[in-house]
Amino acid sequence: MTQGELAEKCDVAQATVAMIERDALMPSPDFLRRLTRATSFPAEFFMNAPDWEFPLGSLSYRKFSKLRAAERTKSHRLAQQSFELYEFLAARLKTPRVALGKMPTEQPQEAARLTRTLLGLSATGPVRGLVSRLERSGIRVFFLPEVIEDPDHESRTEIENVDGFSIWVEGAKPVIAVNGSRPGDRIRLTLAHELGHLVLHYPFHAEQDIEREAYLFGAEFLFPEESFRAELHRPVTLAKLAELKARWGVSMSAILYRARELDIVSDRQHKYLRMHLGKRGWTKCEPVDIPIEAPRALHYMADLAYRDDRSHRALADDAHLPLFWINRIFSAQAAPRRTEVPGQVVSLTDRRKNRSRP
Ligand SMILES: [Zn+2]
Repeated sequence: MTQGELAEKCDVAQATVAMIERDALMPSPDFLRRLTRATSFPAEFFMNAPDWEFPLGSLSYRKFSKLRAAERTKSHRLAQQSFELYEFLAARLKTPRVALGKMPTEQPQEAARLTRTLLGLSATGPVRGLVSRLERSGIRVFFLPEVIEDPDHESRTEIENVDGFSIWVEGAKPVIAVNGSRPGDRIRLTLAHELGHLVLHYPFHAEQDIEREAYLFGAEFLFPEESFRAELHRPVTLAKLAELKARWGVSMSAILYRARELDIVSDRQHKYLRMHLGKRGWTKCEPVDIPIEAPRALHYMADLAYRDDRSHRALADDAHLPLFWINRIFSAQAAPRRTEVPGQVVSLTDRRKNRSRP
């Protein structure tokens, strides 16, 4: 809510809310009662200072030129509360050690190869179960819902311009938040890209071209150059791109782009294949669905720490959060829609006959 919206719901002047936010005014017991009524959050939630510094780093957001302030604030806050819930549960359980390393002076491709090793992946071969691999390496992965509704369902914010962002909380706890309503291959690319930021850009050197470096890291991490060259033979065709997409979980467009970068296709071939992707509408919506793998850690930890609490009611009480909010965080950690069989290579002609998608 904006200050104005909250002031209206609490029936106080906006200046009062502004002063309380700035720590210039101590909220009265009466205001606290109004606040809990207006937000459905318990008084304890407002009485306790947050346990964690969860900074909205300029690094995480500089790429989102189109991002509206509401999208930015709400996606950040939701990630923060997912994180706090994670830490609340983690304090009651034994959780995985962080296996990720910071390599701010390393070349992006080399850092990607080292990171594959640190995460227990082979030097070559597709990364299967990327999300669970990251979670088991101590990285907090959270899905954000595409639409964030206010508690009373009066207003909704679509976070359509957010793909994902990442931060190290207090320098030691890596977090990646991604928009869970994107196609599976795009989510994988975002995860690998943000992983690159975590590995390469803490601390950040001014001369670094961070988006380019995160791209190079992500490309190498998901599809190592050695394998890429071994598997993408000439002539490069759309069918070949589709086959590699199914096997590696990387989009046809991304494979084609990299093929140009590595000089596997000529400029002319690249343009020709792009044109054919475009003609079929595949630059907007590609064939071969990559299954979405949802984060499991929050669900898993809640099940362990609260064995007999399937409704999450006890968890909500202990964490000083309203039940609807807990449920919102949990329900975002699920793979939406899409029912395709993973890893199946479907012939392109068959697919086009059977599908009516744009
Ligand atoms: Zn980036």
